[in-house]
Amino acid sequence: MQKPPHVIIIGAGFGGLTAAKRLAKAPVQITLIDKRNYHLFQPLLYQVAIAGLTPSQIAYPLRTIFRRQKNLTVLMDEVTGVDFQAKQVQTASQTFAYDYLVLAVGSRTNFFGMKSIQANGHEIKDVSSAIATRNYLLTVFEQAARATDAALRRALLTFVIVGGGPTGVETAGALSELIHLVLTKDFPRMDFKDARVVLVEASPHLMPNVYPRNLQAATLQLLRRKGVSVRLRAKVTGFDGKRVQLDVGDPIPAHTLIWTAGVQAAKLAETIEVDKGNGGRVRVKATLQLPGYPEVYVVGDAAYFEDEAGQPLPLLATVAQQQAQRAAENIRQELRARPPQPFSYKDPGLLATIGRNAAVARLGGISFSGLLAWLIWVGLHIYRLIGFRNRLVVLLNWAWDYFFYDSQARLITKE
Ligand SMILES: Cc1cc2nc3c(=O)[nH]c(=O)nc-3n(C[C@H](O)[C@H](O)[C@H](O)COP(=O)(O)OP(=O)(O)OC[C@H]3O[C@@H](n4cnc5c(N)ncnc54)[C@H](O)[C@@H]3O)c2cc1C
Repeated sequence: MQKPPHVIIIGAGFGGLTAAKRLAKAPVQITLIDKRNYHLFQPLLYQVAIAGLTPSQIAYPLRTIFRRQKNLTVLMDEVTGVDFQAKQVQTASQTFAYDYLVLAVGSRTNFFGMKSIQANGHEIKDVSSAIATRNYLLTVFEQAARATDAALRRALLTFVIVGGGPTGVETAGALSELIHLVLTKDFPRMDFKDARVVLVEASPHLMPNVYPRNLQAATLQLLRRKGVSVRLRAKVTGFDGKRVQLDVGDPIPAHTLIWTAGVQAAKLAETIEVDKGNGGRVRVKATLQLPGYPEVYVVGDAAYFEDEAGQPLPLLATVAQQQAQRAAENIRQELRARPPQPFSYKDPGLLATIGRNAAVARLGGISFSGLLAWLIWVGLHIYRLIGFRNRLVVLLNWAWDYFFYDSQARLITKE
């Protein structure tokens, strides 16, 4: 009997997971390779960094997710290269042949070559960087509690977040609330008038290129109401661990910088010699196939895909999921000897939270902000988490924090 075609999916993030599920009933054998043994719900990662949630509440083991999918094998390994001519994928120890390949390796932080920021700043991109950020933030409060010098204490309690996109905005709002609603109780003798969260954005607006003007203005207003200082039209150019350098004005004395201002394709994309767009993302055809290699599909953050207006699609979970659905459907089309179809993104709207009772939303073409947007944000994020247990635990956790002004994970877990 002829063996079914072998589909290799690299990456079990939003794109890879969706593609794997969509091929569950297809006559193929799937190998899903990821360097982690879990799927991570990145949209709530900032909550790990600000001590609101623990990693296990926003991640789920891949082997549990695919326990019942008979045509799929999970492999925890890091892919080090792809030979498109030979149709082979290489890991450190093995080589696998494929008939179809779905590349869904995601993205990583882009520091734009600014070494001082990379060395001294923090990022929120994976579990280890979120935990490192949490440990650092909480340690800085302990140092501030011991500091006798007023200028040093002020610098320790100044938190600079770079990038006014959704991650920067959500982190700034949540950090400000952590400080003013929770840590003030933990450190009753510390003077919190020195504590400030500064959000720096290079463009004249928050949420640039993503949100309509009225929501950009609402985001700014809500953040300021939460006590965040917002610096627009300013670029961060360096950080030595004690002072944040800007292209305009005086440096900001601060011991913490969280960088959320840039993204580039995952490292594997760098090793692949194909045509790339912004941030090293792999250019794909309208059908999401790699030019010259029709059996290879690239989806999600790693793919560079322009919409009808010639604009690259944003790096969003919804884009990755929709592209993965199209790629899986196109593989099924090809198995039926039918031509693959072009991808078109259906924008489901946008949502970002700025803290308790505060969010901005554009849904069904209507923009709004405030409590209703926040309730929708909470409901949607709980619904989108994988696993009933995680949903329940996060819901209870958030309810507890909401009513008791608490946050669960205020542990410094490093020696
Ligand atoms: C802090 C943060 C907040 C966000 N908030 C939102 C939000 O609110 N809404 C929204 O829509 N989007 C949000 N995003 C963006 C969203 O998470 C991404 O667009 C989405 O995860 C992209 O999906 P993907 O499948 O392309 O990549 P990912 O989900 O990143 O998955 C890539 C996978 O590939 C694996 N991998 C990478 N390289 C290799 C290799 N060489 N070998 C094996 N495995 C490999 C990784 O381990 C990972 O599991 C946020 C992102 C971050 C970082």
